[in-house]
Amino acid sequence: MADFCSSCKKQITNLKGTARLSCPGCGKVDFIRCMGCRANAVRYVCHECGFSGPN
Ligand SMILES: [Zn+2]
Ligand SMILES: [Zn+2]
Repeated sequence: MADFCSSCKKQITNLKGTARLSCPGCGKVDFIRCMGCRANAVRYVCHECGFSGPN
């Protein structure tokens, strides 16, 4: 299964420096962030609870 960055939708399967985290709002959704989005603090939004943020 391919993994995609939650912010920019880039495929990150073979990229290093990506981060996964559970939604701080609801804990049901896993976000994946590529190194570029982490470096630029690109925002993400949870489709379950609406939480958004760079952290
Ligand atoms: Zn990204
Ligand atoms: Zn959530």
